[in-house]
Amino acid sequence: MAIDDSSSSSFFAPWPDRLRHSAIILLAAGLALCALVLLADLSLARAVAVFICIAAAALVPWRLHDSAGSREDVRAVSPVESAAVSAVVAGMPDPAVLLDRAGRVIHLNVAAAQLAPALRKNELAQFALRSPEIITALREAIATSEPRRANYLDQVPVDRWMELVITPVPVPTLFGGTERCMLMTFHDQTPLRRVEEMRADFVANASHELRTPLAALSGFIDTLQGPAKDDAKARERFLSIMHTQATRMARLIDDLLSLSRVELSAHVRPEACVDIVPIIRQVADGLEPLARERQVAIEIDLPDMPVAIAGDREELLRLFENLIENALKYGASGGKVIVSLSQIGSGEGAPEVRVMVRDFGPGIAPEHLPRLTERFYRVDVGDSRAQGGTGLGLSLVKHILNRHRGRLLIESVPKNGATFTACFPQAKPPTAS
Ligand code: ADP
Repeated sequence: MAIDDSSSSSFFAPWPDRLRHSAIILLAAGLALCALVLLADLSLARAVAVFICIAAAALVPWRLHDSAGSREDVRAVSPVESAAVSAVVAGMPDPAVLLDRAGRVIHLNVAAAQLAPALRKNELAQFALRSPEIITALREAIATSEPRRANYLDQVPVDRWMELVITPVPVPTLFGGTERCMLMTFHDQTPLRRVEEMRADFVANASHELRTPLAALSGFIDTLQGPAKDDAKARERFLSIMHTQATRMARLIDDLLSLSRVELSAHVRPEACVDIVPIIRQVADGLEPLARERQVAIEIDLPDMPVAIAGDREELLRLFENLIENALKYGASGGKVIVSLSQIGSGEGAPEVRVMVRDFGPGIAPEHLPRLTERFYRVDVGDSRAQGGTGLGLSLVKHILNRHRGRLLIESVPKNGATFTACFPQAKPPTAS
């Protein structure tokens, strides 16, 4: 879209419209009077008198208009079409449009042209931004000379929520007066809105996850107090279910607290140097009973030498516990889980320590991979719940890795298992003092 359409090459092109018209009238009148003096015996004095009258007629209304600034149609005067004002609007980082008092566009920057391609110079902004809220705000700002706000939703290519602020601004004119114009700026509220939505989703998800086991617990309490009061067999069975549900609630609260703790300290990178090898061994040993229960063999391929990274021991235990436990739970059908460590020293990137947890289970369909680390995201909610999952494990893993300035790689071939790789920057060797 052409933003600057005043690029005529004529001598009069840079002049304001009305001044240009007056100059052309005067030029034509001058030439006509000269011709009359030379050809039709018109006296010079009369010719000069006529010329002065024409000049007054052509110039005075324009000057009066500029100093009084009272007419509604300021576009024809274009008193603010100066390079300075245009440069200020063009240089604003947010989409910005300068309007005259009738709501016509005087200047707009590239960001505004991209945001609302229907906006055109010298045309009414109301026609381009067809929103009743914006039109009302614009009218009120023009009528009251006070700032007004409105919301603008841009839906192409993705939803963007913008706040539109209309501020009346007195703009200096070329001839010493000021012209009251409207500066319309758009401020992107999308990130704030997304955070707000995420917060609301999180609260809704957490409440839902807690309410389900709570409802089961209170249901069984009622049954045990009522119909199953004297049924010893039923009591045994119900108490076992209640225990499972209570454990699930405790685990959920535990995960929520861990997540919030890691998020709170996300900007503080752990400084302690820890050997990662015994941490992985400890987690694998601790999960042996689960592996036996699921009939899965854990194969460990770790170096004999210590491998140091800057890390928080408790958080690393939590991280590997989540990855290996997931492999045992969701990849049990593969019968084997491999935990290995490699050090990537050379190449283009920074040296890294990579811990790989590979299973040979059903794997994960590619469309789920980008969302796995979102809170409460599960491929199969029923399966996750049946396994005692909370949907927070991988989110916690991602946050712990972020805090350690590391990253998580997820690869999976459906029906051929999944590989989760935690990458940590290698600890710098201690400098000799
Ligand atoms: P959960 O508590 O449900 O295990 P996670 O955040 O740890 O939550 O995992 C999210 C989802 O990712 C799981 O519900 C599961 O569907 C999927 N998932 C995680 N690890 C694996 C794996 N090794 N194989 C297949 N699916 C997995």
